[in-house]
Amino acid sequence: MSDTNNYHEVIVMGSGVSGIYAIKRLTDLGMDAILLEGDEDLGGTWYRNRYPSCRFDSESYTYGYSLKEVRDEWHWKERFSSQPENLKYLNFVADKYDLRRHMRFNTFIESMVWDEASDQWTLHVRNGSAYRARFIVPCLGTLSVPTLPNIEGRDSFERPSFHSYGWPKEPVELEGKRVGVVGVGASGIQIIQTIAAEVGELYVFQRRPNWVAPLNNSPIAEQEMAEIRSRYDEIFANCAATGSGFEHLPDLRGFWNLTKEERIAFWDELYDRPGFAILAGNLPEFMIDEAANNELTEYMAGRMRERVNDPETAEKLIPKDHGFGLQRLPLETDYLEAYNRDNVHLVDCSPEGAPIERVTRTGIQTTQAHYDLDLIVYATGFDAISGPYDRLNISGVGGERLADKWRDTPITYFGVMIHGFPNLFMVAGPQAASGGSNFPRAIEVCVDGVTDILQHAMANGHTRVEAKEDAEQWWFGQVKKCLHRLLMSKHRKGWIVGENSNIEGHDGSHIRYIAYNGGGAQFRKMYRGAIADDFRGFEMA
Ligand code: NAP
Repeated sequence: MSDTNNYHEVIVMGSGVSGIYAIKRLTDLGMDAILLEGDEDLGGTWYRNRYPSCRFDSESYTYGYSLKEVRDEWHWKERFSSQPENLKYLNFVADKYDLRRHMRFNTFIESMVWDEASDQWTLHVRNGSAYRARFIVPCLGTLSVPTLPNIEGRDSFERPSFHSYGWPKEPVELEGKRVGVVGVGASGIQIIQTIAAEVGELYVFQRRPNWVAPLNNSPIAEQEMAEIRSRYDEIFANCAATGSGFEHLPDLRGFWNLTKEERIAFWDELYDRPGFAILAGNLPEFMIDEAANNELTEYMAGRMRERVNDPETAEKLIPKDHGFGLQRLPLETDYLEAYNRDNVHLVDCSPEGAPIERVTRTGIQTTQAHYDLDLIVYATGFDAISGPYDRLNISGVGGERLADKWRDTPITYFGVMIHGFPNLFMVAGPQAASGGSNFPRAIEVCVDGVTDILQHAMANGHTRVEAKEDAEQWWFGQVKKCLHRLLMSKHRKGWIVGENSNIEGHDGSHIRYIAYNGGGAQFRKMYRGAIADDFRGFEMA
């Protein structure tokens, strides 16, 4: 029977990077807040993604929290830290501030219903129990609903298979095995480059190739870490000033003011820099000007050709349907070199190649061959950003279902609130700045705004806060305007524009506006501006 006496002023959902920060801020302010987590332990994406060599592609010290005590104590061992270390870090933060006492694990919320009479939400837990709260702060993650491919016979495979997000906790025997990896997004690429040397045979099933660039990872010794610590305020100020939330600053000399030789010399230098320099530190015209994009694309294709011995394989790995930077860029370490190994085989399963027909009891059948496999890894992506909300089964004012409201595209106010769904404050929700930037930098801005709104509401006895409809429409206009400035909006492919061939209605025939592409600095200015302007767009009662 439901226990609706489980009441709290604020309930945070999810104990990943956002949830940990949110519960810390809320409880620091003395609010009656708890955190509910569906998994058996904290960490969110860094708890779930355990595949080999899963790691940041943000510089570790820009990804960590801005919390001073944590910055002073924590030593990032690598420029792009690996998953086990990242999980350790999140546990370190939780333990340091004794946050586990506010967390309830194994509490997976299946649905939530708004009660107009009491201005409260009821949260229904999978085990049949329930919680009630005035305010809900879902911190559900952006890539937390994995999607398996709709391939006939997928369940008939009699050997192990799993999604990259569900890589088992127990060690997976890879040595000498015939492994198939389906998908070449950032997850597939990290897996492929890491397991290539260990497995017997590796078959990579690639439907559409992705642009890649080197991560250029390196260890961080004690001395460099001390230097980073001494620069933290400057580093975080730099990140706050950029659109991307990274330290890389765009080069504003003007694409066409440079000679072609100058541009190539600049790209040669960027290619060897760590992280997203090749995107965020580049001449930004390549995102909006087709001719500029074509030239950079040609350069990047050349870099890929240099690294792959077999020219035919190289051509298959180079995207032909979109220019460089128009989909989320995976960063890699010796990924392309993996294809120079005799045991790694690229299977072109594009419509022009040999599409996958079905999964059999013993492997994968394409239109041209059957591949016998001991293990299949589906690195096939996520129902990105809006998926965790659709799955949550949220009913708002008058019983309206959020999934219905968002059927064609999400619509929100700053990616934080939704008209018709009062007292619900999303962190890293659809149309927030976190979709396309250094995640923790964006979520801290978001959470800090939410705590300001909640403090104001509570201090003034408001029991209901809701985004106004016209404010939501205004934000939707901003989101559309920013995306349509970018060449990315013409390409319309990949999760960043809500495309996922494995979900009905998400096939890319229309854009689903799931991210704000105007940059973190602009987002912060408008969001903080609205809060400072007497909570413009937020109706309080
Ligand atoms: P993804 O980028 O969406 O890639 C999914 C891959 O699976 C694509 O290659 C896709 O091919 C393929 N695929 C999907 N369905 C298929 C089907 N039915 N048949 C054949 N192929 C299919 O997913 P992801 O690699 O998990 O990455 C998602 C995001 O997670 C990244 O963009 C990034 O933001 C984040 N991530 C970050 C890191 C990091 O370094 N910090 C690491 C991993 C992931 P099509 O292109 O043809 O659809």
